[in-house]
Amino acid sequence: MKNGNLIVISGFSGAGKGTVVKRLVKDYGYSLSVSATTRAPREGEVDGKDYYFKTTDEFRNLIDYNGFIEWAQYVDNYYGTPRKFVEEEMAKGNDVILEIETQGAMNVKRQYPDALLIFITATDAKALRERLAGRGTESEEVIDKRMKRAAEEADYMEQYEYIVINDDLDRCVQTVHSIILSKSCERERNIDFIETTKRELKGN
Ligand code: 5GP
Repeated sequence: MKNGNLIVISGFSGAGKGTVVKRLVKDYGYSLSVSATTRAPREGEVDGKDYYFKTTDEFRNLIDYNGFIEWAQYVDNYYGTPRKFVEEEMAKGNDVILEIETQGAMNVKRQYPDALLIFITATDAKALRERLAGRGTESEEVIDKRMKRAAEEADYMEQYEYIVINDDLDRCVQTVHSIILSKSCERERNIDFIETTKRELKGN
């Protein structure tokens, strides 16, 4: 059986990538990796569903035990992708989505050169700020920090295979799904299938 694809989705804070990812899971059944973080839960966030909320000591412990595929610091907090779930899902042939920031994405690409990197963005910087402010969960200070971080993250956009603008949620979800589907059709991922087809047709 073929391993599942590893799909990395990044994007500026406020670009709506969280909503896009939730829809991909709901509509198309992708497996979603739940990250660990030292950030405090936002209202309505559930431990084990949105994140595994950890103390800094617990997080450091997991780093020491090689529990993460990657981890990174983002605006004063740590975030990391637990290794076990991702490896097990891929081995089962399931496509796994990681919703992570750019440093983590680069780290994943080094370890899994086959990973598919998709960057989701809003139409422009003004729309980003408006969406962050409109979310109402972040203070002015945090919004400023996140906008500053977005400016840094923009330098990594060229490293992503696909850039998708989220100006319409349905279209964005469909576009990302199509990109993932086409990955499975790449010649490099079908070498065994090509060989089998040739053998069958040639009768040996
Ligand atoms: P938020 O605090 O808004 O939930 O997430 C902040 C940033 O951390 C987002 O860009 C999100 O994609 C990223 N992030 C979430 N989980 C992980 C993770 O496991 N690893 C890394 N490197 N980034 C993550």
